[in-house]
Amino acid sequence: MLNEKVSQLLNDQVNKEFYSAYLYLQFSNFYVEQGLAGFANWYKVQAQEERDHAMLMLQYLQNNDVPVTLEAVAKPDAELKANMAGLAHEQYVTSLIHAIYEAAYEARDFRTMQFLDWFVKEQGEEETNATDLIKKMELFGSDPKGLYMLDQDLCRPLPDPVTRDPATHARRPVRRAFLLPALDGGGRPWYTGRSLIPRRFPDERPADRGG
Ligand code: MG
Repeated sequence: MLNEKVSQLLNDQVNKEFYSAYLYLQFSNFYVEQGLAGFANWYKVQAQEERDHAMLMLQYLQNNDVPVTLEAVAKPDAELKANMAGLAHEQYVTSLIHAIYEAAYEARDFRTMQFLDWFVKEQGEEETNATDLIKKMELFGSDPKGLYMLDQDLCRPLPDPVTRDPATHARRPVRRAFLLPALDGGGRPWYTGRSLIPRRFPDERPADRGG
């Protein structure tokens, strides 16, 4: 059984991660309305990542026999300015993760500290990505052609990573599939960042209106 305060904070964070997903879906909807499919895609991928974070924490609590309480997910503020609010939100989430880490540290809950290590690193990446997007918008966003190019850039999928087959040593692409978050034997998330997450939302088929 985990420390009570740590358990409660992690449970709260499950809800906050789902809210983050909701917020980024709101931003994605905004950009769909603006006709910027790349930005819409980028925020949809962010939403998926946030949902994955929630699922990781939920799984961790379940693995440690902590009952999980699911709360209502708050309605995102439609007036927020997507990119700036995105950075501010990530900075806020970083502070939340750090607060849980601090509680785990005080409780000498080394298992949870190890679990949270990945999230500490992930938040650094999230803030960097949000900052980069703001910088790019400042550089190119005021010019229609620049904005178009930037939107195209955010729409393009990354090439599949290539590994070698351990048996034949042949090069083979690794499909960038949606990966359900999982914990390894030590309770750590086993995928290590966005390299496994497609930038192009795979279920998104803008041309196929039949669904
Ligand atoms: Mg998150």
